[in-house]
Amino acid sequence: MLRKLLSVIAFSLVAGAAFAQAPTPPLFATTKVEGTENVYIFRYQNHQAMFVVTPAGVIATDPISYGRPQAAKAYIDEIRKITKAPIRYLIYSHHHDDHIAGGALFKKEGAVIVAHRRAYERLFQRRNADVPLPDQIVDGQRTIVLGGTRLDLVYTGRNHSDSSLVMFLPKEKVIFAVDFNSLGAIPSRLAVNDSYPEEWQASLKRTLGLAWEKMIPGHPGPGGRLGTRKDMEEQLAFFTELSAEVKKASEGGKCFDPAVKEVRIPKYQTLTGHDANIEWVIHRWCGYWGRGI
Ligand SMILES: [Zn+2]
Repeated sequence: MLRKLLSVIAFSLVAGAAFAQAPTPPLFATTKVEGTENVYIFRYQNHQAMFVVTPAGVIATDPISYGRPQAAKAYIDEIRKITKAPIRYLIYSHHHDDHIAGGALFKKEGAVIVAHRRAYERLFQRRNADVPLPDQIVDGQRTIVLGGTRLDLVYTGRNHSDSSLVMFLPKEKVIFAVDFNSLGAIPSRLAVNDSYPEEWQASLKRTLGLAWEKMIPGHPGPGGRLGTRKDMEEQLAFFTELSAEVKKASEGGKCFDPAVKEVRIPKYQTLTGHDANIEWVIHRWCGYWGRGI
């Protein structure tokens, strides 16, 4: 009996120790995208960026160093572990600081900064010293071919911001698309603050019109997974259905209150972050349908 009790205690101690040592993810990590030869993801805490390595140089994206200048250095050091080729480009996914602060170190390496025209205009207005202005501007679309790799920069319209570029690798069938598709989740307050209801859906449709299979998001997906076309189709369906409900509520004089409390679509209530975020999303769509904001 005593032996049995002791073994139970011993097991509990071991289990307790294992629980206490539950692995915390490293501060940053670099992974190669499966099925590609030269496409990588650099993650630092909860932000991530794509970079492409070619014999003629590196195409880097988003420096992700907002409030942590050391992330840009870590990013470049990680690239240097893979190649000594020059960093030729740094492409901004959109104009929000949390993704693009920290470009100065890349400029020092000789990178040309490329962004959408609206990103340039927004950044020019604020002149944040942590975010160097783009050297080159994209309007509708631009193709970069470097060392045998083709990367298309495609403006699919206003969505989470008015300056989002989809970075599309046609041969690899991979896109890097930031902040306008929440994988299996309701978009957060920060995702809808600067957003464009209705145009967002049109942008998702245009993005789905590109022949990609895997999406690298700007924040790691659940368990670190990549995005799928199904994720994007689900977000499009969610916005489309929610928009129709909010429009009805608005016509009934219910925006903003009580619509933010009342409009619910049961099948989306299991999405991550539903209870925390649904009111923010309805508030944003209420602004649009109620007042044209
Ligand atoms: Zn953003």
